[in-house]
Amino acid sequence: MKIPETQRRYCPNCDKHTEHRVKRESQGPRLNPSAHSKGERRSRRRERGYGNSGKSSKQVSGEKPTRRVDLRYECQACGKKQTIGRGFRVKRLEIER
Ligand SMILES: [Zn+2]
Repeated sequence: MKIPETQRRYCPNCDKHTEHRVKRESQGPRLNPSAHSKGERRSRRRERGYGNSGKSSKQVSGEKPTRRVDLRYECQACGKKQTIGRGFRVKRLEIER
């Protein structure tokens, strides 16, 4: 899918429609590699080899064919960035100049 790099969108800061530059947000590295979330702790306990491995026993394999893109719209007038919606699922995204 191709989308134009500059789009006219509403800016809540300027309270009017202005030119916005579309930028794709990169996911970046995990903030905490030794995450201590509940799911993370459970899955580590199951990997020890004792008892039932619960839902970790049926690993879902394979990648989904599409990913949700994370876009930011930067107002060219005030420089504020907006996140609009939750993005959409697309196989490949090209931002056209
Ligand atoms: Zn603005």
